Parts: sequence; C-alpha cells; structure tokens
Amino acid sequence: MATDTVNIKITKVEKSKIESVDFNDLPFGKFFSDHMFEMDYIDGKWQTPTIVPFANLSLHPATSAIHYGQSIFEGLKAQRNKDGEIIVFRPDMNAKRFNESASRMCMQPVPEELFLEAIKTLISIDQDWVSTKEGLSLYIRPFMFATDSYVGIRPSENYKFVIITSPVGAYYSEPVPVKIETKYTRAAAGGVGRAKAAGNYAASLYPAKLGQAEGYRQLIWTDAKTHTFIEEAGTMNVLFVINDVIITPSEVEDTILKGITKRSLLDIAKDWGYKIEERKVTVEEVINSLKDGSLQDAFGAGTAATIAHISRIGFDGVDYQLPPIEGREFSNKLKKYLDSYKNGEFEDTRNWLMKI
Ligand SMILES: *Cc1c(COP(=O)(O)O)cnc(C)c1O
Repeated sequence: MATDTVNIKITKVEKSKIESVDFNDLPFGKFFSDHMFEMDYIDGKWQTPTIVPFANLSLHPATSAIHYGQSIFEGLKAQRNKDGEIIVFRPDMNAKRFNESASRMCMQPVPEELFLEAIKTLISIDQDWVSTKEGLSLYIRPFMFATDSYVGIRPSENYKFVIITSPVGAYYSEPVPVKIETKYTRAAAGGVGRAKAAGNYAASLYPAKLGQAEGYRQLIWTDAKTHTFIEEAGTMNVLFVINDVIITPSEVEDTILKGITKRSLLDIAKDWGYKIEERKVTVEEVINSLKDGSLQDAFGAGTAATIAHISRIGFDGVDYQLPPIEGREFSNKLKKYLDSYKNGEFEDTRNWLMKI
C-alpha cells in the first residue's frame, strides 16, 4: 500500500467512559481508553486502517493464532512533559522491533510509517487519557495475530493488527528479590527469544510461579544449554555494575530481547564516559562479585519500570544481599536523567521523543 499518505478511517465513541476510571487507583493494564486502532491483512494486502470504539473482537474458533501462537506484541508509553505536551519515547524503535518479531514468526510486516501514524492518531484522539498527574502515563500495546480460520499448521495468510491503550499509574519500583534460574529456560539459541512473541511469556509463567513460591519476585534467566550464562531478568534486560564497569549480556545471542530502555541507558552511559561491556556474562562472575563486594549495582531495564533495582539474588540455595539502593550511584543517576529527558527538561538532541 502507499504509505506516504496514511488515511485512517475514524469512528468515534458517542460518549467517553473516562469518568468511570479512577486515575488515583490504576492497576496496570486493567482499564482501557475509548478507542482502538484496527487493521486487517486480507487477500495479500493491508486493508483500510481504522480507529474504532474500544470493543470486543469476534473470532472464528479456528483462528490460527489461538491454536499455534503466531502472535506478537509491543509495549511503549505516552506521557506528558513538564509543559503538558504528550510525548512517546522512541516509537520508531518499537516499529522496527515489531517487524523483526513479525519476520521471525512468519507474519506480515506493518509499514513503519503506518505503525507510527496509527499511534499518533490514536493518542491524539484519546489525549484526555494521558493524565497530567505526575508519574501517570498511557501504556500503548500494539499487537498482531494470525487470523486464518484454519486448523492446519502453516503460516497464516491473514492477520489482524490492533493497538489498544491503557492508563497506568506511577510504577512504584520497589527493589526486587530475584533467583538465578538454573533448571527452566526462557529462550533457547535458535528459538524465538529475540521476538516479542506471545508464547515466550506463557512459557515463563510456570517457572516464575515456582520462584514466587520461594519468595522471589523475578527470575534471572540463564542460557538453555549450560545455565552458566546470564540472559535476562524476568521480562526485562539485566545490567550489572562491577568494579565501575557496566556489564550486560550481549544481543549477539538470539535469546535476548533487544530492549529499547537498555539501549537508551547504554547510549547515555557511554556519553558519560562509563566503561561498558556487552558480552557473555557468567553466573560465576556475578556470584563472585557479590562474595567479594565488587558488585555495586544490579537492575532490570524495561519500559514498564524503566529501572527496577535488584535487592537480593538467590543462587544455589544461598541468598546474596546487594548494596543499599541509596548508594547505587549509576542506576539512580540514569533513572533521573531519563525521567528528566522524557519530561522535556533538556532539548531532545537525541531525537528520542515523538510529540503528539
Ligand atoms: C519487552 C522486553 C524487554 C524490555 O524492552 P523495552 O524495549 O526496554 O521495554 C526485555 N526483555 C523482554 C523479554 C521483553 O519482553
């Protein structure tokens, strides 16, 4: 389709339901704004892009995504800056990553300009849902799934691309106790760990539940083959500071999700002159650094929390306590900088903010 001009067909709600939502009490992902974006891939092409009142979808029971899991998603946020303008953080990166996920899952790519225009238009129609209250934001969830009505295994010929948005509260990132998981696996080399594919999250639920029963909020995933290399923390990328060096698992491994938060943090840290190592990270070196006191900082990075400090790490039946949060110079400084950046306190020299 011609993507230079995007003509979105818009049908608005008769009456907004915003008054039924208490913005002082917003559990994550429970309430949704008035409209959603919807577009189908049928007969070899994307059909008219539409924005319609938020509503249930009607699906054929043989809808192939339900049976075989061709389903991917993205997650990003719209928020107000100090001047009350609405910004979205690096949505071009989400558009690219979405299509990389699509490619791995044999799904239809969505033209990037259309992905961005859809977000822009949807947010501008539902702009009242982007609260002016500090810390609140509108979580944006683009997703795509296979819609062939066919119970047979092959890549679907038809797809549905949808974007819904959900007002979310300030993410109170209490430091999290984590366990290094050495039995179960999030992603195996050659698998789909790099894709934001729905099934990856389903597969992580059972081991996460076992970890929670032992008192850990998240798992630190290790490589599927040897369980000696660290990969991610729950659904976030993981970073360590050991002897003043920032260490994080490299993205060369196709088991690691290429996080936009992590990439942004590393870009900033590099500008600040920090030494960064993106490489294989062994469980052993992290445990040793905990034992000899050279570990200064450890945190997860992702859109939901930006930075989630790790309070303690369990490994092999032993719990290791991490340094107090107040003293974590690196992550605290980064978080503050990134929050200020999104808040429009500096000029957007990095070109990271899309204004609505
Ligand atoms: C989404 C996600 C991340 C974080 O990515 P961001 O772009 O920073 O939000 C990290 N790991 C996994 C497994 C994820 O699904």
